[in-house]
Amino acid sequence: MSDQTQEPGPQTPIINVASPPFDDLTGNVVLRTSDNVDFYLHKVILSLASPVLKDMFGLPQPSTLLQDGQEGQRETPVISISEDSRTLDNMMRFCYPCDEPALENLNDVQRVIQAMEKYDMTEAGKRVRRMLVKPVFLEKEPLRVFIIAYCSKMEDEARLAARSILRFPIKGQYAEELQDIPASVYYHLLDYHDRCGQAASGLFPNLTWVQKQNWVWFGCSQCPANYYGALLADGVETRASNWFKEYIERAAKALKARPHPTVVSCPELMEFAFKEIATCRSRGGACGYSGFAQLLSFSKSVFEKEVERVTSEVN
Ligand SMILES: [Zn+2]
Repeated sequence: MSDQTQEPGPQTPIINVASPPFDDLTGNVVLRTSDNVDFYLHKVILSLASPVLKDMFGLPQPSTLLQDGQEGQRETPVISISEDSRTLDNMMRFCYPCDEPALENLNDVQRVIQAMEKYDMTEAGKRVRRMLVKPVFLEKEPLRVFIIAYCSKMEDEARLAARSILRFPIKGQYAEELQDIPASVYYHLLDYHDRCGQAASGLFPNLTWVQKQNWVWFGCSQCPANYYGALLADGVETRASNWFKEYIERAAKALKARPHPTVVSCPELMEFAFKEIATCRSRGGACGYSGFAQLLSFSKSVFEKEVERVTSEVN
């Protein structure tokens, strides 16, 4: 925002001009934001993006005199809107031929979504939807993403967010926007979380989803091992290194509170296992040499997929 376009009078607020590219004085309409910033825009672009604005252009609008160095003075309609300049700048970057805004926080995303709904900007709105479910938002603030999606009737995005909420214990999550959703919706969210925890619990103690194959912890001669009591996929009970047994038990406990696939390879679980594997290595055991790589492979390619499978069946 830069130049003033008019001198402030006793009652006149200071009006600033928007940052490029929305300071183009060849624009044939001005949108004036709630914080008094004038965006010089083009009716044809706005009309294509928003039927609401298109209709508005058909109505008589108050005009302001615009100083134009080459053409002298001409009148440009000025439309005051309730959005602030940050929101309008973000919105227009979805409509004009320029880079889309990064939208680095959820407040910005929410304001743009709400404004685009108001102006019925369907096509641009689809691109903002994709930003709402960026991994960074889903991983850090899934409850807020869920609420924003729910309030804007974005069913697919709300489902994605509900799954991401499984990363955390449900009772530890809070967002001010909770007041925007009915208690019944929150109840269903709690229930969904609980049922996913129950589904994940069904993976234990009989690991019927694990092929014995060549996982080293089922055959290490140097690790303390006990009958795990686990009936594997090939229908046998087998001995397993104690560290693997404890890894599974810790994972089962974690999944009950946080039934999300990534939990089984979270740092606290893996660090514990890796310490035990290092101890086996000091004894010259087989786990010590290939256990590290195998556990990574097991957690990612088998365990996570199984948690994903059983929780994705929960509606
Ligand atoms: Zn071992």
